[in-house]
Amino acid sequence: MTTETSAVTPMMAQYLEIKAEYPGALLFYRMGDFYELFFDDAVAAAEALDIALTKRGKHLGEDIAMCGVPVHSAENYLLTLIRKGFRVAVCEQLESPEEAKKRGSKSVVKRGVVRLVTPGTLTEESLLEARRHNYLASFARVRGDGALAWVDISTGSFHVMPLTEVRLGPELARLAPSEVVLADGDQADLGDIVTESGAAVTELGRAAFDSAGGEKRLCDLFDVGTLEAYGQFTRPEVAAMGAIVEYLEITQRGKLPLLRPPQREAQARVMQIDAATRRNLEITQALGGGRAGSLLSAVDRTVTAGGGRLLERRLSSPSRVLEIVQDRLDAVAFAVEQSRFSEDLRAALRKVPDLDRALSRLALDRGGPRDLAAIRNGLEQAGAIADMAEGHDLPRLMAEAVTALSGHESVLDLLEQALVAEPPMLVRDGGFIAPGFDEELDEARQLRDEGRGVIAGMQAEYSQLTGIQSLKIKHNNVLGYFVEVTSVHADKMLSAPLNETFKHRQTTANQVRFTTVPLSEMETRILNAGGRALEIEKRLYDSLKAAILENSDAVSQAASALAELDLATALADLARGEDWTRPKVDASRALEIEAGRHPVVEQALRKAGEPFIANDCDLGTAHDIWLLTGPNMAGKSTFLRQNALIALLAQAGSFVPARAAHIGMVSQLFSRVGASDDLARGRSTFMVEMVETAAILNQADDHALVILDEIGRGTATYDGLSIAWATLEHLHEINRCRALFATHYHELTNLSDKLDRVDNATVSVKEHDGDVIFLHEVRRGAADRSYGVQVAKLAGLPETVVARARVVLDALEKGEREGGTAQKALIDDLPLFSAVPAPPPQVIRESGVEKRLAEILPDELTPREALDLIYELKGIA
Ligand code: ADP
Repeated sequence: MTTETSAVTPMMAQYLEIKAEYPGALLFYRMGDFYELFFDDAVAAAEALDIALTKRGKHLGEDIAMCGVPVHSAENYLLTLIRKGFRVAVCEQLESPEEAKKRGSKSVVKRGVVRLVTPGTLTEESLLEARRHNYLASFARVRGDGALAWVDISTGSFHVMPLTEVRLGPELARLAPSEVVLADGDQADLGDIVTESGAAVTELGRAAFDSAGGEKRLCDLFDVGTLEAYGQFTRPEVAAMGAIVEYLEITQRGKLPLLRPPQREAQARVMQIDAATRRNLEITQALGGGRAGSLLSAVDRTVTAGGGRLLERRLSSPSRVLEIVQDRLDAVAFAVEQSRFSEDLRAALRKVPDLDRALSRLALDRGGPRDLAAIRNGLEQAGAIADMAEGHDLPRLMAEAVTALSGHESVLDLLEQALVAEPPMLVRDGGFIAPGFDEELDEARQLRDEGRGVIAGMQAEYSQLTGIQSLKIKHNNVLGYFVEVTSVHADKMLSAPLNETFKHRQTTANQVRFTTVPLSEMETRILNAGGRALEIEKRLYDSLKAAILENSDAVSQAASALAELDLATALADLARGEDWTRPKVDASRALEIEAGRHPVVEQALRKAGEPFIANDCDLGTAHDIWLLTGPNMAGKSTFLRQNALIALLAQAGSFVPARAAHIGMVSQLFSRVGASDDLARGRSTFMVEMVETAAILNQADDHALVILDEIGRGTATYDGLSIAWATLEHLHEINRCRALFATHYHELTNLSDKLDRVDNATVSVKEHDGDVIFLHEVRRGAADRSYGVQVAKLAGLPETVVARARVVLDALEKGEREGGTAQKALIDDLPLFSAVPAPPPQVIRESGVEKRLAEILPDELTPREALDLIYELKGIA
């Protein structure tokens, strides 16, 4: 017997065999209504999911750890596991227990992995964000050249571009994939770049990256003889695409998603924006992490999921091709002018479901009747919108979109006839095919329903026969149909003559249950008819699905067209509502903005009931660089960012928040913030600031737009000043780009005399009774002073300290005017608190403010340190 217990059970043997194929994943092993996890998988999952860890039998003498999740709620658990960085292999039962028994009394049910769930290969609606793409990318290297390919299997889009390693980080920042596939061994040097972008790294055997094998896989997938049909691809490009297809085959177990032919993307066609710039400008994500507070959330008025994803894509990759930008702006302008038409379109678009994702679920065989209905509803709205557009003289982009909306009659007619208005979620629920569509189905349903009618009639008949008014015919899964009477009538039913007709089945606390021969016969008929109806519905589902997939290209083009119309009308709605204007975009180097605003800050201030002060900017003509000075909190950062965002919006094809704007095409956008502002992110090292600045100085070309906010602040005063100085000179002399440079180093303003394309600007403040009032107005010229003391007062520094600081400041300024050497002596001489009325004695005794103050060297302080100090001093006082 002891050998028995340590032997491996057939089920465990099967489990171990399957598990061995997926060492890197948690195995969800299907057992009836649960997915069970065993051994280490169970321990890891129980902890990650916070569910109970139990035991099930023994393996080689040891307890087997186990935990499980119910199949019906498995999606939520999957999501949690994926978010926590796990991969999950889903192993299903491939036959019923009855089938297994037929094969032999001891046989285990056949099981197999049907899918490997990873971050980049999700398709479930509940696991995806509707308005975001979910990209899976792969990076391949072939003899020094590289390429990046990416797909969104939930929508079928497939892209590729040649890419050197140095550009990998920025491109990943642009695309924000959730998973990146690398060749075995590449993680060593590329892993950090990928992780930095927030994606999970997956290593795949080098064979998957072989370009010859890749070409074959791609040709098979798209059923073409040569890839040239889609363009000329480099070897790394083919390798990267081939690896993605291979990885999809592995994770989807051979069931490939509906991919569109690969589109080549050229770097030169989009504005280049690196990761740090994206973060700083909070384009699609706010610094805090979420979407709220980002540019994307401030401008998103789309009404469809597809439109929302398109907007995210446009803002992440503004175009550099004039024609494309003009086409997009023409579409928005048309929708602004034709506001009635545009509003009608939006009303129709609101009813458009997520066509792309419904289509992809159908292709992967993870769909259901609701996906069929989504395609139907989407195509119906597409047709309605095409009709609405008739007679309008549409701009090119809209006209092209409208063309893609019509011509779906055959699929649409089929779906309209076949489906009921609101079908159920699952095929096995049945009831989604409309009556009148299939004769056989109608017959089967009629039989089933008649049976139900007959049974209702039987109840009356039996009630009369027995004389029991309360007799009922009921149904449950164990007994099927049965006759039920309350216990008081038990004796009567169980004795002659009634016991000949009514066969006793069950006695419960209060009821007694019976069956009869006619009732059982009727039940069989109902069951058979119902089963048949369901079978027919399943068959029809498959044929409807096939009809849709045959037209998948046309359907996905319609989906893209709807997204395009949604975006154009949404941007028009925004432009009208927020009083935005059409920018003039051309190939010049202008950045002339009249009365520009910051879209996000403006909206936030409006909520607080405060006005936003519009400001002008004028680069690229008389001057390339503005050196912006002004006290903290005056609005320097806001001004810098608003101009960058206006250029970005214009090239994304949107109107802009300004009275007028002339944007010479921006090739690269750079934004950097001096180190101490980044403290919150825990990467405040001066090194990071310098590395990022170096990247700009090495890369920016003459069509770049650079905004630098307090660069050099992360180090001691003179170091910082010198670095800022040299950086400015380099931008002016070498990069020759457009730049806005905010600084608190007033010394830099003198540079404008020496560098002819540098001009000074300042954000003005007013002084009133020793207080500072922020006007937020940007005007030419240099700030006369920094107002640090006044700002400190606003921050709530004790009056005694503010007054003292004024005395120290005066002394220092006087010292500076009289020459540096005198300064030290002056500070030494400065009598402590001499100019200040004596504070209450207990404060002096207990505070120690003056002691701390004596240690301070104001010259050495960055503004941030000064602010921290204020808090510290406040704490002491
Ligand atoms: P700085 O970079 O000079 O320290 P910020 O740009 O961070 O200043 O601006 C500080 C605050 O001033 C912002 O949070 C905003 O509320 C307000 N502000 C900035 N610019 C404007 C403006 N143009 N109009 C109105 N308020 C503004």
